[in-house]
Amino acid sequence: MHYTGYLNKMAVYQHNPVRYYLNTENDLFFLNDLLGKKIKISYLHKIKCFCGKIVDSVYRMNFCQSCFFTLPQASDAILKPELSKAHLGIEERDLEFEKAYQLQPHTVYLAISGGLKVGVTRTSQQITRWIDQGAVAALPLLLVENRYQAGMWEVELKKKFSDKTAWREMLTWKDPDIDLLSIKEEVKQMYPDRIQEFSSDDTIYRFEYPKIAVPEKITSVNIEKNTSLEGELTALRGQYIVLNNSTALNIRTYEGRMVDIVI
Ligand SMILES: [Zn+2]
Repeated sequence: MHYTGYLNKMAVYQHNPVRYYLNTENDLFFLNDLLGKKIKISYLHKIKCFCGKIVDSVYRMNFCQSCFFTLPQASDAILKPELSKAHLGIEERDLEFEKAYQLQPHTVYLAISGGLKVGVTRTSQQITRWIDQGAVAALPLLLVENRYQAGMWEVELKKKFSDKTAWREMLTWKDPDIDLLSIKEEVKQMYPDRIQEFSSDDTIYRFEYPKIAVPEKITSVNIEKNTSLEGELTALRGQYIVLNNSTALNIRTYEGRMVDIVI
């Protein structure tokens, strides 16, 4: 069967293993049930921007040029939380949007997704965030009032930890065995006068991802260049789908692309 539509980020639900839904606006595919089955995804050279406009290419962050330069969803503070200004009442592009987005509890966390990393997320979104990054384990480090505070902590902690997901190690399940609680303790010792900011949540959140095989090596496919990928679905992790021929597609990277899916 052929299905055509615009790719959205996969919907994920915490479960053992995580449940994955591929969303093309017209259709929703429960991917866990398609493990071991053949799938082909072809790019049809059209992209729908966030604003609904159909374009041939996007500018940055999957936005058309006009959206990238005007929308609050594409402002500098989105990628660099430390540039947030809503807590000062200062507007960057749309103060109402920025207040709603930035002035809410944020979690600064440690996670293992191929390697050890530090990151920030809205606390209400933390489970989804960790799954989207393919974390096998995550531990809240700090719970702060807003995005600015989280960003300042991240800047500080990036001196010691990576803030990038090690996607090759993540997709080949080479996660290091690290005791996150002892690292949290070490970080606390580094900031004795700020101990009250540390999260009292010492839960290690663990996630399992659906897989029937683990690739030994992996190549991430650029669907705009290669136009299609085809194979047997063997694993799902983060926002990646993994096929039996050692290729993977990062669905989030290609959000908005019009694709034809054959299952
Ligand atoms: Zn747009």
